[in-house]
This record gives sequence, C-alpha cells and structure tokens, in this order.
Amino acid sequence: MMSNMSFLSYMIRQFDEAAQAIGLSHDLCDVLRKPERTVTVSLPCRMDNGELRVFTGYRVQHNSARGPYKGGIRYHPDVTLEEVTALAMLMTWKCAVVDIPFGGAKGGIRCDPKGMSQAELERLTRRYTMAIANIIGPYLDIPAPDIYTDAQIMAWIMDTYSKIKGELAPAVVTGKPIALGGSEGRNEATGMGVAIITREVSKYLGKPLKGAKVVIQGFGNVGYMSAKLLQDMGCRIIAVSDSKGGIYSNEQLHVEKVLENKKMTGSVVNYGKAKNITNEELLELECDFLIPAAIENVITAKNADNIKASAIIEAANGPITPEADRILFEKGILVVPDILASAGGVTVSYFEWVQNLTRTKWSVEEVMANLERKMIKAFDEVLRSAKEYEVSARQAAITVAIKRVAEAVKALGNWP
Ligand code: NAD
Repeated sequence: MMSNMSFLSYMIRQFDEAAQAIGLSHDLCDVLRKPERTVTVSLPCRMDNGELRVFTGYRVQHNSARGPYKGGIRYHPDVTLEEVTALAMLMTWKCAVVDIPFGGAKGGIRCDPKGMSQAELERLTRRYTMAIANIIGPYLDIPAPDIYTDAQIMAWIMDTYSKIKGELAPAVVTGKPIALGGSEGRNEATGMGVAIITREVSKYLGKPLKGAKVVIQGFGNVGYMSAKLLQDMGCRIIAVSDSKGGIYSNEQLHVEKVLENKKMTGSVVNYGKAKNITNEELLELECDFLIPAAIENVITAKNADNIKASAIIEAANGPITPEADRILFEKGILVVPDILASAGGVTVSYFEWVQNLTRTKWSVEEVMANLERKMIKAFDEVLRSAKEYEVSARQAAITVAIKRVAEAVKALGNWP
C-alpha cells in the first residue's frame, strides 16, 4: 500500500496529473489509463505429497504501441491483480523513458515459493506458461524475472513455450541462464544503471564524485552492485543496510568485506569497527547521495523533512510516497525516479532480446558501453525537461514517457 492510497490509484493519479500537464486529449487518456489485456488463469498443480492445489496467475499487458509488451513475473503470496496492473503501467513508462522499443506488462502467481520444492516450482511454472502461451512470444510479450523468480524459472518458461510452438524461441524471455542465450552483464545491469545515474547527478549538481558520501539502503543484488561500482568510481560508501539493520562508518566501508561479513553471518550488521544503526537512522544520515535499494514506501511524510542527502536515486521501485515526494521537492532535494534510475535491468534485457533475435553474442564491455549511452541520454532528456517546465525529475520522466507512448498510439490510429 502507498500510504492510504493503493499503488494502482497512485499510478493512475500520477498519469492523470502528467497527462493534464501536457494537454493530452481525452481519448488518449482513456486509452492509456487502462491495460490492453488482463488475463487471470487458474493453475492446478500436483504437489510433492500428491495433493492437487489450484494457484491463481496473472498477466497484464498495459500497452504495446512502441513494441512488444515487456515485464517481469513475480511469485509471491501477496500478488494481486491490482498490483500487477499498476506494475504493468509502470513498465510502459520505464521502457519509454529509456527509449527502448517495448511496451509494458507484468505477471505473477499467488504462491509462496519459499515453501515449495524445485520440482513443484517447475510444474507450476510450466503450467503457467501453458496457460499464457498464446499471449506471449518474442514479438508479442517477453517476460523476465522479478521478485522470487530467477534464471532457472526463465529457462523453464522458454523450454515450455518452445515445445508448444515446435521451435526454439530463446527471445520469448530475458534474464535466462547465459548457457541458453542470457546476456553478459544482466546481473550487474540495474546496479550499473544506478551508478551511472549517480555519476551524472554529481555532474549536474557540480559535486565531485570522488570522495562523495553515499548511503545505500538494501544490500541485495542492486544495493551491493551499486555500492561496489560507486566505490570503484571513487565514492565513499559510509552506510549500508539490509532487513536486519544497518552499519555506518565516518570514513567509509569496504564493500567487498561487508559482503563477506553478510555471507558469513547472514547480515551486514556487526561489521568491524562500524557502528550499528537502524534503517530509519540510515535514511536520515548526512550524505551527498542516498540510494534506497530495498523496498517501497521507506521515505514518507514522517521522515521526509529529516532527509539530509543532496540527491536521492531511487534504485528500488516506489521507495518514496507521494506526500514525501512533495516535501523533498520543496526542500530542493533532487530525486531521480525509479522509472529512470532502475531502468538498467530492462535496458540490458532489451540487449539480450536483440542478441537472441540476431543470433549474436556481445561482450560485457559492449553491453556496458551501450547501457551507459542509453542511461546518459535518458537522464539528460529528463533533467532538461524538468528544468524547462520547472517540475520535479519524477514529473519530467513520466511526461517524457507518456509523450512517447501517446505519439505512438496516435500514429497507429484507431482501427477498426
Ligand atoms: P534483493 O532481494 O536482492 O535485495 C533486497 C535487499 O533489501 C536485501 O538486502 C534485503 O535484506 C533488503 N531489505 C528487505 N527488506 C528490508 C527492509 N524492511 N529494510 C531494509 N532493507 C530491507 O532485491 P534486488 O533485486 O536488489 O531489488 C531491490 C529493489 O530494486 C527492489 O525494489 C526491486 O523491485 C528493485 N529493482 C530491481 C531490479 C533488478 O534488476 N534486480 C530492477 C529494477 C528494480
């Protein structure tokens, strides 16, 4: 939930405000406010103990005017159709803001993958793929991993889809194992995108990156990778955290050693001479760049006024509530929104799809150079627009995205 507003209501409100600001026609608003297709499937699955359980799965396809639908599939007990619908819309804007030729979609199965065996997960995944096989495809809708889904699950989807269609179709999913056509650099991609954006923010604000104090919430794939890459660029990572708490050092933390500690103890806390702090304290530390890379709604109306960072780079999806966003804008804190800051992952997914369709394999250097080019261009476009219209980077990003999608919808026309 986004404070007292649902995530979907928030996404629609954000869309309505941006659409009004750019004077989008009533007709286009009506088209873009709703998903093009919503599919709910019942998935009978035989469990290891012989019991038959019926799970519910979803695939929501928001818009395909700019290209095939693109978006992850999550396995989680709290997955709802409303959440998947909101995330599908977010994917349309995310792909448009970095200007990759995809539309937006999202999928999910209501299940508790932590309590399921690999064999059960495989049966459920193959059943789900069968159920949606006619609405996905390399030129139609390309799923990817999301919460609690991974490269193995993508391999099962690709295999099931390929068997149904009678031909090998690696481009039907991204985030696959490298052995099956996955791209080099996919694991690092989101963190790399965050690091590139942070570097561009430092140039924009005229603050040197070398020695800049960085605070990161979350030390998973994105948080760790952002920390490591920013340390390599000369930043001082002064605090990091995970769900068990955080650590702070006046000087800087050694990112690789923090990772070793996390691997050994299960958490980043209790590391060397660093001070243990709470996640709440971490967010309010004095720093140059604050990077929320964990969960949603961590900066709210309650703590927004206490944020002392010069800029916030949203690596996580939705870490700032709408009320907090307004407070931060009034305080003059630059917020780079999730649809731009965390777009590195979907951008490299696009590169994976291109490699699959052209039967080529790019080196990690090629992937990273292309990612850098895309991220810098998107950042410049968004910040230029924010300056021109005197709006927040979030409003500018969504506006840039909506304009691109609306232009495509308009050019396609309405038929029949
Ligand atoms: P992850 O599961 O690898 O890591 C999440 C981290 O957050 C872990 O360190 C976990 O301990 C920590 N965490 C969980 N609950 C917390 C809490 N209450 N307080 C503080 N820390 C907490 O996930 P990830 O792939 O790194 O994704 C992180 C965020 O980035 C998510 O919001 C995700 O949607 C977003 N994102 C990820 C990608 C990607 O490519 N992985 C792409 C776009 C956006």
